[in-house]
Amino acid sequence: MTGSADRTFVIVGASLAGAKAAETLRAEGFTGRVILVGEEPEPPYERPPLSKGYLLGSDERDAAFVHDRTWYDKQNIDLRTGVRAEALDPGAHAVTLSTGERLAYDKLLLTTGSVIRTLPVPGADLDGVHYLRRVEHSDALRGVLVEGARVVVVGGGWIGLEVAAAARTHGAAVTLVEIDALPLRRVLGDEVAQVFADLHAAHEVDLRLGTGIREIVGEGGRVASVTLDDGSSVPADVVVVGIGITPAVELAQGAGLDVDDGVLVDAALRTSAPDVYAAGDVANVESPLLHRRLRVEHWSNALNGGPAAARSMLGQDVVYDRVPYFFTDQYDLGMEYSGHAEPGSYDQVVFRGDVAGREFIAFWVADGRVLAGMNVNVWDVADDIERLVRSGARIDPARLADPAVPLAEL
Ligand SMILES: Cc1cc2nc3c(=O)[nH]c(=O)nc-3n(C[C@H](O)[C@H](O)[C@H](O)COP(=O)(O)OP(=O)(O)OC[C@H]3O[C@@H](n4cnc5c(N)ncnc54)[C@H](O)[C@@H]3O)c2cc1C
Repeated sequence: MTGSADRTFVIVGASLAGAKAAETLRAEGFTGRVILVGEEPEPPYERPPLSKGYLLGSDERDAAFVHDRTWYDKQNIDLRTGVRAEALDPGAHAVTLSTGERLAYDKLLLTTGSVIRTLPVPGADLDGVHYLRRVEHSDALRGVLVEGARVVVVGGGWIGLEVAAAARTHGAAVTLVEIDALPLRRVLGDEVAQVFADLHAAHEVDLRLGTGIREIVGEGGRVASVTLDDGSSVPADVVVVGIGITPAVELAQGAGLDVDDGVLVDAALRTSAPDVYAAGDVANVESPLLHRRLRVEHWSNALNGGPAAARSMLGQDVVYDRVPYFFTDQYDLGMEYSGHAEPGSYDQVVFRGDVAGREFIAFWVADGRVLAGMNVNVWDVADDIERLVRSGARIDPARLADPAVPLAEL
């Protein structure tokens, strides 16, 4: 890229989206200053292993890092870890850091991600209450999810279920409390959520569904039990709270950017402020594919959104229209989900394969069109599912359900 040497691009949020954006700026030939600012002490890392391989003890800590520290030096990327961006002044094209430094920028990318929701009940600050977002949280959990520990997981979302699976694998006794009638019901709907409830029941997780938490009861400052809304009490050594996240919009909000469940961006990932972009968990994107706004809290969106924002910052013509994708691993179940199908948006779930044996594909269908598909212990089909979602074509449900009909022929 010519004429870029004297320009400064600042990226706020040094995680997957931010690191991938910085990498893309260099790969695309940007020769100016790239400053990557992150409040965590670690260089950018990926979070999925924190509730899976790393928590299980099967993956090394280093495997989670996007690049090792020396890579940033070699790429001439000015990585500032342990530094928070405190204030953004889009009019002046400047951002103030927790070090007191005021950085002038030509373009700025917000990849500030998400912050965990905390549990608003008495006892939530007792020793033994854990959350899971950062690597140090996973480190702490590795020390307590042990044989014989009594673990209460609050929240039956992806994180809660993955922690429950890891805890069971380590030999802990696990109770999972979910306020809804089934874990993951708001994401997957009743039909497929039941598969995950059955999976955890089969692994002897004590599922307490349709009830919340009234109080965490302590003894000597440590967790001793959890009182549920239905009045029952569950003894506990460890409580892990996974009740969701909210987008980290504080900086954007303070700067007067348009914010509504995330930082609002167009399909080129531009915010309402000139020369300010957003990507990853924090961005609420106008999706040309789905004809609506969508904020995606998943790995692949950070992996792809960061680079897309970088290209947009470089003036390339960017239309970010990825089919949403995510994955999970729990016990011996691995799955990928492609598309977007909220309960209420589809009229049918079509299964192909062996649901009881947990080797199947589920399709969420509206008016004959595939909105989303999930392959469970069936591999190398995510591209075909994505193609079906993208095409919007009407497909005969009988053919969709028939394993004898190759997906490529649908
Ligand atoms: C335990 C766990 C397991 C997961 N597993 C999966 C999975 O299996 N599949 C999947 O698809 N997704 C998974 N996810 C979700 C996925 O990790 C996220 O979607 C992804 O991390 C989002 O990346 P991001 O770069 O947008 O934001 P984040 O990863 O949230 O990073 C944002 C960074 O910005 C920093 N920051 C925020 N504000 C400031 C500021 N003002 N100044 C400086 N720095 C700031 C934060 O400290 C943070 O380091 C998982 C998440 C967690 C926590």
